Amino acid sequence: MRAYGGCIEPGGWELDDERYVTPCPKCGKPADAWRVEKAEGSLNVYTGIRCDHCGYERGDHPGDNG
Ligand SMILES: [Zn+2]
Repeated sequence: MRAYGGCIEPGGWELDDERYVTPCPKCGKPADAWRVEKAEGSLNVYTGIRCDHCGYERGDHPGDNG
């Protein structure tokens, strides 16, 4: 029997909530990016990027269903 580590969510699957820095596609400077998984009936994945240097923004914000 195999034992898993402590990173599995009690709900049954592992949810990612990841923030990282990636080069901005517009100006090339470091921009904030994210990849967030949310269990909202089904599993939704939000990804996006936002650059504070040039204002470039793209993608989805978790919880923003408007
Ligand atoms: Zn930029």
